[in-house]
Amino acid sequence: MMDTNLKGKTAAITGGARGIGFAVARSLAAEGADIALLDLLDTVEEAAQRIEDEFGVHAFGQRLDVTDQDATNTAFEAIAERLSVPQVLLTAAGIEINGDSIDVTAAQWRKVIDVNLTGTFFSAQAFGRGLLASDLPGSAVLISSMSGEIVNVPQWAASYNSSKAAVAHLSTSLAVEWASSDIRVNSIAPGYVLTDLTQQIIDREPELEADWISRIPQGRMATPQDLTGLVVFLASNASSYLTGQQIIIDGGYTSI
Ligand code: NAD
Repeated sequence: MMDTNLKGKTAAITGGARGIGFAVARSLAAEGADIALLDLLDTVEEAAQRIEDEFGVHAFGQRLDVTDQDATNTAFEAIAERLSVPQVLLTAAGIEINGDSIDVTAAQWRKVIDVNLTGTFFSAQAFGRGLLASDLPGSAVLISSMSGEIVNVPQWAASYNSSKAAVAHLSTSLAVEWASSDIRVNSIAPGYVLTDLTQQIIDREPELEADWISRIPQGRMATPQDLTGLVVFLASNASSYLTGQQIIIDGGYTSI
């Protein structure tokens, strides 16, 4: 039988107020995990309340900018005090700025790298610190993207693609570094998922949606729920010997 039970464990989810992070948080709560949502949005507390009401687990939400290392460390300490030391991490905080590379400003480039790569590192670092200090096992799932493997067309996003390729190798690097402490680290690389992030791109260029779908063998974009089973698997003991891997979940996009 597959052991996906997360009762007695706390899961921290960055970017958890909406989209993929929120959908995964609900699925982790359905497996019994207590939930801490961390997000820039001030709806994060309300999102946590919805999870607490729906699943009867303990949940709380806190505003956090993951690019702030001190604030990220403090937030993880607060989770340990209010719930318990997080043994599951999902890093879903991320942004995308599209545009021709020739026009990208220093500020735009740095912002994408800062949130997607540096913020993911700070989150994983705070997570690992809590586990190492208390000698607990844990599992981190970092969200990269198929954009770290291939170059999406027809829109251009060199900063996003580069940041996601780096997240994948960050994940592998931490996995090897922490393996002997029983901390597993894997990344998932989604294809196109319909969330606010992609909806905003489609709103600006509506013709992109049909173009993207025409390139996906399964013939549709993912919903956030399409990703939840994989993350629950990676977060739980069902995947106890799996670390340092990136799993692409893209409806077949990168297979052709
Ligand atoms: P989303 O915009 O719905 O959610 C991202 C969340 O991250 C938001 O709630 C946002 O407030 C939060 N966030 C942004 N910057 C932050 C910061 N500095 N500190 C804390 N929180 C911050 O987008 P989503 O589609 O759910 O994306 C989640 C993750 O999945 C992102 O890393 C994204 O790059 C990745 N991803 C998305 C897709 C897709 O097609 N939607 C595909 C591959 C990978």
